[in-house]
Amino acid sequence: MTREDLADTLDRIALLLELQGENPFKIRAYKTGAEIVRSHPDDILRLARENQLDGIKGLGEALQKKLHELASTGHLVFYDELRKSFPETLFELFDLPGLGPKKVKALHDQLAITSVAAVKAACEDGRIAGLAGFGKKTAENLLAAIAWREQNAGSFRIGDAAPIAEQLLARLREHPDASRVEAAGSYRRGKEIIHDLDFLVATSRPAGIMDLFVSMPEVAEVLANGATKSSVRLRNGLQCDLRAVTNEEFACALAYFTGSKEHNVALRSRALARGWTLNEYRLSPTEGSDTTSPPIFPDEAALHRWLGLDFVPPELRENQGEIPAAAEGRLPRLIELENLRGTFHNHTTASDGRNSLEEMAETALELGLQYLGIADHSKSSFQANGLDETRLRRQIDEIRSLNARWKAEGVDFRLLAGSEVDILKEGNLDFDDGLLSELDYVVASVHSVFTLSEAEMTQRIIRAVSNPHVTMLGHLTGRLLLEREAYAVDVPAVIEACAGTGTIIELNCNPWRLDMDWRWWKLAKEIGVKCAINPDAHRTEDLQWLWLGVKLARKGWLTRADVINCLTPEELPFLRH
Ligand SMILES: [Zn+2]
Ligand SMILES: [Zn+2]
Repeated sequence: MTREDLADTLDRIALLLELQGENPFKIRAYKTGAEIVRSHPDDILRLARENQLDGIKGLGEALQKKLHELASTGHLVFYDELRKSFPETLFELFDLPGLGPKKVKALHDQLAITSVAAVKAACEDGRIAGLAGFGKKTAENLLAAIAWREQNAGSFRIGDAAPIAEQLLARLREHPDASRVEAAGSYRRGKEIIHDLDFLVATSRPAGIMDLFVSMPEVAEVLANGATKSSVRLRNGLQCDLRAVTNEEFACALAYFTGSKEHNVALRSRALARGWTLNEYRLSPTEGSDTTSPPIFPDEAALHRWLGLDFVPPELRENQGEIPAAAEGRLPRLIELENLRGTFHNHTTASDGRNSLEEMAETALELGLQYLGIADHSKSSFQANGLDETRLRRQIDEIRSLNARWKAEGVDFRLLAGSEVDILKEGNLDFDDGLLSELDYVVASVHSVFTLSEAEMTQRIIRAVSNPHVTMLGHLTGRLLLEREAYAVDVPAVIEACAGTGTIIELNCNPWRLDMDWRWWKLAKEIGVKCAINPDAHRTEDLQWLWLGVKLARKGWLTRADVINCLTPEELPFLRH
């Protein structure tokens, strides 16, 4: 929940009331409320949460109550009820970029449009281009946005699929007839986007487990219900498959259904060279071979060993050199979650985060970290309530005094005072060098002007990382998975520049970003660029995403030596102690 979420909800209530033909004064109150929320100079989210909105001009008692409910619970019963009087498809319109409340109302009132499908039809037959306030360009943009949406239907961010995947795993594991249960497929390999979830169970009595699977409360539709294979579609649209195998088949099946296809082809050819065919469930002798009974593997490691390989961690199974490396004993020992000592790029209520310094610190401490870096937005990110010089200096002081207090209390934990400083259009930074040098470190990020040419954007970023005060580069490409493409930028050129300047590159492990992409880390590592795994947490819960960062770092072949989060505060090269 952000300030913007609060304001948006009020705007949507105003719109729904307007569509219902409600009293204009009532509608006006919500619109004004949204304006006040957007422009209030103090931390209105916190005020709303703490029910301290009394006395703010223009916010009546009813609105105060609603804002408090929304900020403290994340829901508003009034809004949920109001929504029920409209077709659910109407709310899809809000997800289309460029369709604000005014435009939604125009579409609803003038063209009776209440779904994305209807918008598409009206774009195609020219009705939208002819509508006042729309025009040809708007219709084209809407069509492009709808095409993007269709193309991504059935795609899920791994971070969105993870909670349900883990929940289903736990439930299947509880079944008394299940001896081993694993998630396979792209989820196990840590792909950033997944299309379905594959589960594998070892059992000699699959019937009860299949029944459990198809009758789970999350299931919207049963696509197949067989003796050893079932498929369902969950209410959120995600397809899940469950296969039952015997204990003896489990290792081969897990390897097979984990993939990738390309990796499996390579495994199969190694088996063939040994006189065996490797399929989904087992090894079989090749035609004409005089071998006897096939070997049976207790686990994947034994299968890999039999193929003359070290165990290949699932994250590496993309046929990107892992097979020869495993054959020659050169696979890296990948980083583990337990190796992390801290993290660097996180927000608080000072900018657009939801929790205070102390709340963030407390959660980091509970997660077993020794330090937490705070990097709130800088002043140019006004939409995210970025800090100006005065507020940033105040935050630095606050962090120093909290650290002093913990030290006195014998708490082995400290906050680091950083900043996520905007990279301005020409590549200069949002603060001057004097202020930057007062910070423990600087994360430099692009948050605006995404439409430069590739050459200009690359130059802009290289210029920023060339500033000796810049410690690390935040979310290199600006992509938002399934939402916004990366801006045009020459990634290898930026990596090379960072190698030259000694700039660390962030692996932003917010599930929407996972940026820099895992495919680039091998190159970065080869030329000596270090990685910082950063959840870009905007609330305490987001710190949990560190596990996802580690998974993606593993996918990028990184070891603890490549990731600076594995250093203690004393070892961090940029910290003056
Ligand atoms: Zn950012
Ligand atoms: Zn950030």
